[in-house]
Amino acid sequence: ERQAAVSRQLFMREVVSAADREVVVADPYTGRRRKMLMFGSNNYLGLANHPYVRERAERTIAEYGVGVGGPPLLNGYTGLHRRLEERVAEYKGAEDAILFPTGYQANLGMISGLTQAGDMVLHDALSHASFLDGLQLTRAGHREFGHNRLDELEDLLDRYAPESNEMFVGVEGVYSMDGDLAPLDAIVDLCRRKGAVLMVDDAHGTGVMGAQGRGAASHFGVEGQVDVTMGTFSKVFSVTGGFVAASKPIISYLRFFARSHMFSASISPMVAAAVLAGFDVLEFEPERVERLRSNLRYFRSELRKIGIDADLSSPIFALRVPVTADVFSVARRFHDAGLFVNAVVFPAVPAHEQRFRISLMATHTHADLDRLVACIDELVSEWRAAGVNGVSK
Ligand code: PMP
Repeated sequence: ERQAAVSRQLFMREVVSAADREVVVADPYTGRRRKMLMFGSNNYLGLANHPYVRERAERTIAEYGVGVGGPPLLNGYTGLHRRLEERVAEYKGAEDAILFPTGYQANLGMISGLTQAGDMVLHDALSHASFLDGLQLTRAGHREFGHNRLDELEDLLDRYAPESNEMFVGVEGVYSMDGDLAPLDAIVDLCRRKGAVLMVDDAHGTGVMGAQGRGAASHFGVEGQVDVTMGTFSKVFSVTGGFVAASKPIISYLRFFARSHMFSASISPMVAAAVLAGFDVLEFEPERVERLRSNLRYFRSELRKIGIDADLSSPIFALRVPVTADVFSVARRFHDAGLFVNAVVFPAVPAHEQRFRISLMATHTHADLDRLVACIDELVSEWRAAGVNGVSK
C-alpha cells in the first residue's frame, strides 16, 4: 500500500509548463509549483518548444483548424499528410511511407498487416510492448532470440526456414530501456543471406543517430537497406503519431491491410505541420544533433570520473539500482534535488533490473549535467559504502 501511495506521487507528476529542458511541476509532496530539470523526456533535440515549430503549428491551426475528424481513407488525408509521408520516405531512404495515429499503432499495423499464417517472426527479447502486442494480432508464428544474440537469430532462421512461407526479423535501432544499439550492418547482412524481411523499430534512433539524425541504419552505413522501418513522432518530434517506411508495394499494401491505420483517425494537420517543421529544423540546425552528441561525450567522461563506465551510444542512460535499495526513496532523492527522472520498476522490468531511465537532450547545459552527475555520485557512493553494487549500463 505504501508503494502504491508513493508511486502515485512518483508517477504522473503534473507538469504545468511547456516540455523543455526545465519544466514547472506541481510538486505532489509540497503542493507548490517548482522548477525541475528534465532528464526524463524523449524530446532529445528540444523540438517540443522550438519557436519555429510552434509557429508552424499555430499557422496550421489558423488554416486547417485543430483536427480532421476522420481516418485517412475517408476524410482524414490532407496535403500536409501526403507531404509528411514523402518527407519521411526521403529521410529514411525508402520509396514511400504511411502514417499512423501513434507509434504503438504503427507497430501493430506493420506486424498484423505484413505477416500471416505460415510466416515466422523472429524478434529480439527486448522488443517494445507494441511489437509484442502486434504479434498477438497475427496468425504467424513467433520466437524470440536473446538480446542482440545474432548467433541465436541465425540458428532460428535456419531452423524455421524450411517450414515457413516468409521469415521476418524484428529489432530496434536503439533499445528504448537500455539505449544500446542493434548491430544493423550485421543484421542486414544476415537477413539478406537467409532471405528474411528485416523490420526495424527506429523510434529512438530517428533524429538522433547517423548523419543528420537519419537514424540507426545511417549510423551503421546501411541506409536504404532495411526492408521496413517503423518510427514515431513522439520522441524527437515530441508530438504524437507514427510511420512505416518501405517500398511502394509494401506501403500500398499496408494502406488496406494495416487495420490500426485504416480504422483510426489521422493525426491532426497541426501535428503533421509540427513534424514537417521538425524535419526543417533537423535540416537547417544540424548543430542540435552535434550538441546532443557533445553532451553525451561530456556526460560519459563525467560519469567515468565517478567510476561509472556508461555506453551512451544513444541519449538513453540506464542507472541500475541495486535490488536491496528502495527505488522509491531513490526516486524521492532525485525529485528533491530538482531532477526529473523516470523510475522503471517491477513489473515493467524484473526486480533485479530496477533502474532509472535517464535521457539527455541537446538543450542541456554542462552545468545541468553536473547537477545530475553530482546526485548520481552521492547515490552510487552510498551503495558502494553499503557494499551493494550500483550497476550501470
Ligand atoms: N517503439 C518503441 C521502441 C518505443 O519506445 C515506443 C514508445 N515508448 C513506441 C514504439 C511507441 O511509440 P508511441 O509512443 O508513439 O506510441
